[in-house]
Amino acid sequence: MKAVRWHGKSDVRVEDAPDPKIEDPGDVVIQITSTAICGSDLHLYNGFMPGMKAGDIIGHEPMGVVVEVGRDVRRLAKGDRVVVPFTISCGHCWFCEQTMFSLCDNSNPNAEQARKQMGHSPAGLFGFSHLLGGFPGGQAEYLRVPSADVGPIKVPEGLSDEQVLFLSDIFPTGYMAAENAEIAPGDTVAVWGCGPVGQFAIQSAWMFDAGRVIAIDRIPERLRMAETNGRAETINTDEVDVYEKLMEMTNGRGPDRCIDAVGAEAHASSSVWSAMDTMREAIHLESDKPYVLQEAIRCCRKGGTISVPGVYVGSVQLPFGAAMNKALTFRMGQTHVQRYLDPLMKKIEEGKIDPSFVITHRVPLMDAAKAYETFRDKEDECIKVVLKP
Ligand code: NAD
Ligand code: ZN
Repeated sequence: MKAVRWHGKSDVRVEDAPDPKIEDPGDVVIQITSTAICGSDLHLYNGFMPGMKAGDIIGHEPMGVVVEVGRDVRRLAKGDRVVVPFTISCGHCWFCEQTMFSLCDNSNPNAEQARKQMGHSPAGLFGFSHLLGGFPGGQAEYLRVPSADVGPIKVPEGLSDEQVLFLSDIFPTGYMAAENAEIAPGDTVAVWGCGPVGQFAIQSAWMFDAGRVIAIDRIPERLRMAETNGRAETINTDEVDVYEKLMEMTNGRGPDRCIDAVGAEAHASSSVWSAMDTMREAIHLESDKPYVLQEAIRCCRKGGTISVPGVYVGSVQLPFGAAMNKALTFRMGQTHVQRYLDPLMKKIEEGKIDPSFVITHRVPLMDAAKAYETFRDKEDECIKVVLKP
């Protein structure tokens, strides 16, 4: 089959790869019909993510049709059309039983290595670092899906790929970011980053009855989408000082809830990354500006909440004294995707949201290398790319 394989910083190639097979009785194999590129893939593409190996198949936002079924699989059959969550979860460990699927104790075969670095191992993820299992990813023609009774959700008749594809990651991720923000009705919610995750965090903040949503970015078309589609007020970081502007907009109190939908690379400084060689060479970003997380701590109102869907790796310098004295709450994590599949599918079916609004580029899988470049450089007003095998 053809697949997108990682070869190093700024180097992904569409190449031949072995067809996946059933390896465990709980697996299915799907033939992929649509698969997206995520901001998380940029951490790999930018060379920030440790634990990658040349030739790894990447991608973790796939959907398709079941073509092979392991003998223990109960919920799926050949021909079912499914969306696949990026988190791989066993469904029966202590964490899965609490619906903390991205913290599954059993799905990461390299748990020992992860434990050495983090103290414990999070769940395995598709198409990501070997620290998180090194599972072949979904930017390919076919994908092996482990624990298939716990992950994939069947697509109801009548819904297109584009309407449901983002249940694999960014819709639940934006939704969990809003839930983690502990929004009370009427709250002012500030969202840093108007990429795909930020866009869904904005949409979701309204679902939790936010009173105001303020979207922060520097890219005009992304701010425009936040404004028109997300009904958000906007701040362009190139035009004003974010702290000053937020204080002005909230009479000096600061936003009640702050969401960091940017993550690690923004304004990374070499001191932050010096611990890791893979990251040192990737320092091509502005180093004189504060991290989004530092800025959020500064801006958030006293007693407010900071929700972090943005992905971080390694260590980050934070003004923790300010956070402590302002009595802030932090909530974060990789998304427990499976927890949100049914309720969010229902919202799509009921027409409460059409997630396809975020798509700007539809591209054959064979052109993935160019699409990565376009998405990274935010060229051609690119916001979200869907690859078609
Ligand atoms: P993206 O790269 O398309 O969007 C990031 C946006 O942040 C860009 O529009 C960029 O201009 C903006 N930005 C950069 N610096 C900024 C700053 N200082 N202030 C305000 N905005 C700034 O990525 P995405 O797909 O939207 O993903 C966003 C983050 O969410 C990534 O870190 C990604 O890894 C993470 N993510 C997390 C999960 C999870 O499970 N927690 C799932 C998916 C993605
Ligand atoms: Zn993703």
